[in-house]
Amino acid sequence: MSATYFQTEAYFQARFAAAGRRLGFEAESIEAWRVWRAELHGKLRQLTGIDRLIPTAASPRTTETVQLDGYRRERVEIDTEPGVTMPFYVLVPDDLAGPVPAIIAPHGHGSGGKYAPAGRRDIPLMAETIDQHNYAYGVQAVRQGYVVFCPDARGFGERRETLYEGPEKLLMSSCRALAHMALPLGLTIAGMWAWDLSRLLDYVQTRPEVQGQKVASIGLSGGGLQTLYFAALDERVDVAVSSGYFYGVADSLLHLSDNCDCNFVPHLWEYADMGDLAALIAPRPFFVEAALQDGLNGPRGIDNVLEQLAITRRAYALLDVEDRLGLDTFPGGHVWHGTVVWDWLARWLRA
Ligand SMILES: [Zn+2]
Repeated sequence: MSATYFQTEAYFQARFAAAGRRLGFEAESIEAWRVWRAELHGKLRQLTGIDRLIPTAASPRTTETVQLDGYRRERVEIDTEPGVTMPFYVLVPDDLAGPVPAIIAPHGHGSGGKYAPAGRRDIPLMAETIDQHNYAYGVQAVRQGYVVFCPDARGFGERRETLYEGPEKLLMSSCRALAHMALPLGLTIAGMWAWDLSRLLDYVQTRPEVQGQKVASIGLSGGGLQTLYFAALDERVDVAVSSGYFYGVADSLLHLSDNCDCNFVPHLWEYADMGDLAALIAPRPFFVEAALQDGLNGPRGIDNVLEQLAITRRAYALLDVEDRLGLDTFPGGHVWHGTVVWDWLARWLRA
């Protein structure tokens, strides 16, 4: 005999269908697009709490420099709010002849923070996750000739909260703890991450190796989340790549409601789906990597990605820049693909 459960998901799905996307992208003229963009941008700032974070002097300090094969790796710290410090790696190619474009490479979950994009295979626990997700996209980027910045997001790597300290817990995240501290104060993980990335971008712009050059943000999974909010909120991001994090919220976050706390911004679904957030990036180049068998796409699979991309594409089409919206779908699971995206990045970063 099977038990009967009186569940609530169908109720929430109906509420989302009835009230969701109040600020969805619908514009059919440039003027309407401008109005829509200002409205959703302002709403996103409000809902993420980003305007309520506290500026402080960055006070950058370089604590370590290591020469590696073809590039050097610096460890730098900056302050992003009073009492909040973000460590990150800077990967600088050998023999730079002049300034080159920069790539900010935020990590996702199960990453040990910056250690995965920066390819720290020498750290126990890291080699397996790097192989599993093709995670060292920061190293791939420095080998493409870019100056690369790999930060720890709050809650990861060297920024894990108390319950998650220790080398044995390196691959764990403290998003849940962060959400519990932040949400009752009207702050969100997505907002804090985007803020920290903007403070990193302030610092990037001071580096002589990249001055006057374009800046991209690229990331897998939670790094795609970080990139999406960062690029939507900060127009200084010239190019954005989201890998394994682009899908409709009804299938992927409302139905898959046990996903990490960092995905959930109070009230956001009343206003926008993911395709609408990405439409805020237009007319700047935006690229999606989506694996055909990635379970995070939800039960309808790649259709849930393509539907959101269709929303985003309408904004690029309206602005007559459809060629700036890129997509790579490929067989396999939740990984950084890292193939055609490099030519696409070069096309926009080195133009
Ligand atoms: Zn998380």
